[in-house]
Amino acid sequence: MTKLARYRRIVVKVGSSLLVERGGDVRREWLDSLAADIADLAAAGADCLVVSSGAIALGRARLGLAGRKLKLEEAQAAAAIGQIGLSRAWAEVLQARSIHAAQVLLTLGDTEERRRYLNARATLTTLLSLKAVPVINENDTVATNEIRYGDNDRLAARVAAMVGADCLVLLSDVDGLYSAPPAQAKDARLIREVPQITAEIEAMAGDAGSELSRGGMRTKIEAGKIAVAAGAAMVIASGHHLNPLKRVAEGAPSTLFRPQTTPASARKAWIAGHLEPKGSLFLDAGAVKALGAGRSLLPAGVTGHSGRFQRGDTVMLLDPAGGEIGRGIVAYDAEEAAQIIGRQSKEIAAILGYTRRPALVHRDDMVLREPAKGEA
Ligand code: GLU
Repeated sequence: MTKLARYRRIVVKVGSSLLVERGGDVRREWLDSLAADIADLAAAGADCLVVSSGAIALGRARLGLAGRKLKLEEAQAAAAIGQIGLSRAWAEVLQARSIHAAQVLLTLGDTEERRRYLNARATLTTLLSLKAVPVINENDTVATNEIRYGDNDRLAARVAAMVGADCLVLLSDVDGLYSAPPAQAKDARLIREVPQITAEIEAMAGDAGSELSRGGMRTKIEAGKIAVAAGAAMVIASGHHLNPLKRVAEGAPSTLFRPQTTPASARKAWIAGHLEPKGSLFLDAGAVKALGAGRSLLPAGVTGHSGRFQRGDTVMLLDPAGGEIGRGIVAYDAEEAAQIIGRQSKEIAAILGYTRRPALVHRDDMVLREPAKGEA
C-alpha cells in the first residue's frame, strides 16, 4: 500500500481526461473531492503542488473545436481560453478549503536553463512556505513544438525534481503499469511495485493514450526515470473515482516506483558531479569550521574570489591554504560578491541596494569533500 501520508512534499499530476468531461465542462464534483484529499495532506503537514492538464481540452470544447486534431495555433488559442477556466476551477475548490491556489505556467527553459530554473524554483518554494498550492501547467499558448515538454507527465517529474519533492503521483485513466498493455493482453497483471526501471519494465509500457491526453504509459515511464533519479517515489494510479488520493492511501490498485536516492543527495550529486565550476571563493579558517558544522557560507567568512561566475553557477570553496573543501551554487554574481565579501550579511542591502540571500552559498546548495584518511 502506498502510504501518502509519509511523504513531505508531493506533486500531483492530473490528466485532462479526468478533469474535463467529453462535453467540455470541468468535472467539478471530482475536482472538489481531489481538493479535499489535497487539503487533508496539507493539514498533515505535507507541501502539495499540482500539475494540471486540461487547458487545451477545456478551450477546444468552448471553441467548438472538439473531435479533430488541432493545428498548433489552434491548440495554443484553445489553451489561452481553457487555462482561465482551469485556474478558476482550481482556485475555487481549494479556496473552499481556505487554501490559496497559485497559477504557475512554465515553459521548457524554466527547468532547463539555470537562471530561469533558479527563479522558478525560488518562486515555487516561496509559495510552499506561504502554504499556497501551486497549480502548474505548461504555458501552451507560447510553447511551440520545438520548445515544449509536450506532455505533463514529464513536466510534473521535472517539477518534482526542481522542488526536491519526495513523491510524484500521476493520476490518469489507468490503474498503473500492467505487465502488458491491458487492451491487447487479457492476462496482463498490475505491477504493484517497481524497485528499478529496467528494460523489461520499459517493454511493458506499450504506447496507449486517450483522445484528450497526450501521455501514454511510455511517457509515464520516462517521467518515472526523472523522478526516481531525483529522489522522488512515483505512483501511477487511476483517477476514475472520487477522492483519488485517499483511495491510493487506502490501498486502491496503483504502481509504486521506488526512488533511487533522496532528494537531498540527488541535489548534492548534481552539484558535485555535473557542473563545471566557474570560479572560486577563498574562505577564512572560521568559515571552514562553520561549513564543517553544517552552516551556510556567509560573506563575512570569505576573503577573496576569482572567476567570472554568475548567480546560480557552481564555485569551488577553498581553504586558507588553497585546498578545495567543497563546491556550491553561489547566490551572487562575481561583481556583487566583490562588494560584499568580508562584510556582515545585514550590510548587503546597504551595499548593493538589495539582498538576494544572507548567505553567499546556502548549505543546501553545497557539497563538502569527504576528508581523506588521516586528515583531521
Ligand atoms: N498542457 C496540456 C493542457 O493543459 C496538457 C498536456 C498533457 O495532457 O500532458 O491541455
